[in-house]
Amino acid sequence: MTTKSAAAAARATVYGYPRQGRNRELKKAVEGYWKGHVTADALRATAAELRRTNWLRLADAGIDEVPTGDFSYYDHVLDTTAMVGAIPERHRSAVTRNALDGYFAMARGTQEVAPLEMTKWFDTNYHYLVPELGPDTAFTADSAKQVGELKEALALGLTARPVLVGPVTYLLLAKPAPGVPADFDPLTLLDRLLPVYAEVLADLRAAGAEWVQLDEPALVQDRTAAELNAAERAYRDLGGLADRPKLLVASYFDRLGEALPMLAKAPVDGLALDFTGAAAANLDTLASVGGLPGKRLIAGVVNGRNVWVNDLAASLSTLGTLLGLADRVDVSASCSLLHVPLDTAAERDIEPQILRWLAFAEQKTAEVVTLTRGLARGTDAIAADLAANRADLASRTHSPVTRDPAVRARASAVTETDARRSQPYAERAAAQRAHLGLPVLPTTTIGSFPQTGQLRAARADLRAGRIDTAGYEERIRAEIQEIISFQEKTGIDVLVHGEPERNDMVQYFAEQLTGYLATRHGWVQSYGTRYVRPPILAGDISRPEPMTVRWTTYAQSLTSRPVKGMLTGPVTMLAWSFVRDDQPLGDTARQVALALRDEVNELEAAGTSVIQVDEPALRETLPLRGADRAGYLDWATEAFRLTTSGVRPDTQIHTHMCYAEFGDIVQAIDDLDADVISLEAARSHMQVARELAAHGYPREAGPGVYDIHSPRVPSTDEAAELLRTGLRAIPAERLWVNPDCGLKTRAWPETRASLEHLVAAARTVRDEL
Ligand code: GLN
Ligand code: ZN
Repeated sequence: MTTKSAAAAARATVYGYPRQGRNRELKKAVEGYWKGHVTADALRATAAELRRTNWLRLADAGIDEVPTGDFSYYDHVLDTTAMVGAIPERHRSAVTRNALDGYFAMARGTQEVAPLEMTKWFDTNYHYLVPELGPDTAFTADSAKQVGELKEALALGLTARPVLVGPVTYLLLAKPAPGVPADFDPLTLLDRLLPVYAEVLADLRAAGAEWVQLDEPALVQDRTAAELNAAERAYRDLGGLADRPKLLVASYFDRLGEALPMLAKAPVDGLALDFTGAAAANLDTLASVGGLPGKRLIAGVVNGRNVWVNDLAASLSTLGTLLGLADRVDVSASCSLLHVPLDTAAERDIEPQILRWLAFAEQKTAEVVTLTRGLARGTDAIAADLAANRADLASRTHSPVTRDPAVRARASAVTETDARRSQPYAERAAAQRAHLGLPVLPTTTIGSFPQTGQLRAARADLRAGRIDTAGYEERIRAEIQEIISFQEKTGIDVLVHGEPERNDMVQYFAEQLTGYLATRHGWVQSYGTRYVRPPILAGDISRPEPMTVRWTTYAQSLTSRPVKGMLTGPVTMLAWSFVRDDQPLGDTARQVALALRDEVNELEAAGTSVIQVDEPALRETLPLRGADRAGYLDWATEAFRLTTSGVRPDTQIHTHMCYAEFGDIVQAIDDLDADVISLEAARSHMQVARELAAHGYPREAGPGVYDIHSPRVPSTDEAAELLRTGLRAIPAERLWVNPDCGLKTRAWPETRASLEHLVAAARTVRDEL
């Protein structure tokens, strides 16, 4: 095919679409089913209607080939587990009794059985259910869901392409089932899994699929030679099948690197590649291997996981380059649109001028279609779109929202000294000891106390105008009083105010910082039926007023014990938001850090001696490729230090992390130069304490002795035993006693009992010293 006819044949497609519906109908139907208000048939009908609506909208917008099989009641990795029959032993009877209930039992557990573990889908904020595999796993094909959804789309007269999690990624995302040795490698099951994929592919072909997409995002991570070999073998096998549809192997979230030459040679019919952000490196790699002669290329040039309008001219130029490198070039978003909200048109509170900088799923779909038209018919065919796009981009670039000279001047004047405490840790530690006068093995909590139904109701009342600000604040003050008096009575040493005024640890600050946007309907799926509305870091960040000082000083006025100030750190403020794409992340982090630094300094000036800056997301935003990690950790740790370095040596800076294993970032934790760190550790029996010790970590640490993820109350003995384990790694004068994380998801009765036990355990172990 010549370049020109390849261009003329260009088609528009996407890999997946938000599942929930315009008014989160799916969430309501699924939760209604769980509560027994919605029948299985009604749930199925809602789901089918949502799929139909999405496909027709995509087709109306000009998408030539719609995805199928991307829909899910809960999670597409769990759907894959069902498709390959890898049902864990403990869920088998439930699945046999009733497939739908068994599916939800795997997702959420029941009274009798635990659910599958949930973890993050690569570096997104979507969570998937981790497949549990072992040497005894026997796979069986169940293609009913994939085939059924394909037939629904075909019946609408559409061209449809089923999208499946690829076999290699599926195995690489799995973990050894309970009872299977931890060193079991799920990838050893590849030969058993491939025939099941072959069967599903044959079924899809029989049902009318011309193309099937196999998603292999795991190949954008650093992979061993053995893993790359497995992938090569998988696609040699599947490509060699006689009875199969055309195969498209898709990757996204980063560059393919060494996997790209391998896939380019594989006997598959097409590749879908990401060309946004760090994945833009795919372009050079593709050119260096001589392109994809004889293959179809789907070019992901519209960022599928951020919310900014595309630079259409830049994308067209990328597409132009790609035309010379493949037999056929089609256009798509870089990944499923699952990771962005549905439609900017629903946002009435965002200024129209700013709204034009944003593109959610509907707008991204339109961009894909426009780019396809530009590619097929030339730029003249989309002249008006290009002009409008140029105007939107220029308005963003020159807006006072994106460029606040005062913020920029301050950020560029930051020096290395600004991000360093005035004294080294050892001297600070002595000053803090004298200043705070805490006992050995001091007790504290991570910040939040139970967010009761009454608190949430008070917030809803305030929003609805049923109570005024004064009434709401009265409620918050009463809550703080109760929390302070409980902690004093229980004998906790460093108190917290309990965070009752916070709806969410990021949103609360985003709402008070200039430069952040909030959406009203910008829901994205976090997991299952849980949706979040990440705020948008849209402009230069400044802090017009103190954000937390009032509540912290109020709490301090109620007690003579130290009350810990409580802030969300700059890295976490980025990680759980949509970030700017027009400047390096490090620049945005620095602006947020400077705003938080003012808050830290003002807390200190108002008499706060202990200030905690939470960074639970430090580990999770680590880049997927090892080569990018040092650069990330550099700006991330600098932003934390910039936030916390403006205080006196005798002010104690705490940080807190959870959700992840920290063994591989202990150096970065050390580089934060915080005086005290609290970490999640109860479930791993203080593993992290040993990791800190092995590194020679010199500072104070509180590995959690109370697992707050469950309502279970740990006994005094149990907590004491964990403390003794901790003491084997960390000396008594540097060990703190605290729970794993905040208590906001817990109820009061178990919180009360658990903290009483925690204090009793600290006292017991102190007496043994
Ligand atoms: N200070 C926060 C809290 O206690 C920390 C939450 C978190 O680590 N995710 O809720
Ligand atoms: Zn936590």
